[in-house]
Amino acid sequence: MNTFSIAIHGGAGTIVKEDMTAELEEAYLQGLKEALEAGYAVLEQEGEAVNAVKAALAVLEDNILFNAGRGSVFTKKGVQEMDAAIMDGSDLSAGAVAGVRNVRNPIELAMEVMRNSNHVFLSGKGANDFAIKQGIKLEPEEYFYSQFRYDQWKALRDSDNYSLDHTNHQIEELLKDKKFGTVGAVACDSKGNIAAATSTGGMTNKKYGRVGDSPIIGCGTYANNKTCAISCTGHGELFIRGVAAYDVSCLVEYKGLSLQEAMNEVVHHKLMAIGGEGGMIGIDAQGNYAMVFNSAGMYRAAKKSDGTCEVDIYK
Ligand code: ASP
Repeated sequence: MNTFSIAIHGGAGTIVKEDMTAELEEAYLQGLKEALEAGYAVLEQEGEAVNAVKAALAVLEDNILFNAGRGSVFTKKGVQEMDAAIMDGSDLSAGAVAGVRNVRNPIELAMEVMRNSNHVFLSGKGANDFAIKQGIKLEPEEYFYSQFRYDQWKALRDSDNYSLDHTNHQIEELLKDKKFGTVGAVACDSKGNIAAATSTGGMTNKKYGRVGDSPIIGCGTYANNKTCAISCTGHGELFIRGVAAYDVSCLVEYKGLSLQEAMNEVVHHKLMAIGGEGGMIGIDAQGNYAMVFNSAGMYRAAKKSDGTCEVDIYK
């Protein structure tokens, strides 16, 4: 049996201990542990990597602390528009959605696109129509509301600024107890198949149907058994321009770098060179994982069948 393992993230950015209360820190760690265990349980029962990443993400989407599903950030118009993607490294099948509303678990909708549509990427109203047709669980607006995200948006809504959960120097003062939160998972199952998934509310005050890197295959999410599975978090525009997730895969495939080396190269050199703050988690088909970020912190956790287990926030 192959070593199986899972890694998850809950967003990267200016996450520093000084800004955190003990209760909030505990709540984040607890949220990460619950999601990690949900994904790991699937792998332990010899489930597929793709089901493990979906299970972990659904738990994070349901947790109001993270910017995905419930607790997603507000757009310029004061609503939540969510993006998600999932990819199966065993056959390169993938499903993604962008700008969906009222969908309780966007990752389930992305999985549905992968499994039961002839397409890879659905957006906006069409994606919502598909959710209704497939019987995906919907929730009213209030379900997604969180006071913190609302206050965060109120501080920006009269401006043209948009902000990552992560870092926003202009409104740093207003966001003393900043929350972070795009969520992602990568897993390697006992058969040596790997998968990646990412889900997000995107950026506060985003407009014109802005879509980030998370649902774009090759940018925020990618999986290929031959190389690695990657889920990114950070300033999406830069991760799109850097084709970040696929770039890691290319460095492994064509340059022979290890997963860790390839992720270091992309996160610390290539993304940094264009101002791309954030991080990513990755896994390979031998069950090795890495979690790399160029920001002050990244909510992250990982567990491996050899007994390794870690849950961390800061550098
Ligand atoms: N990458 C996401 C986006 O740009 C945001 C994040 O990771 O927090 O939509």
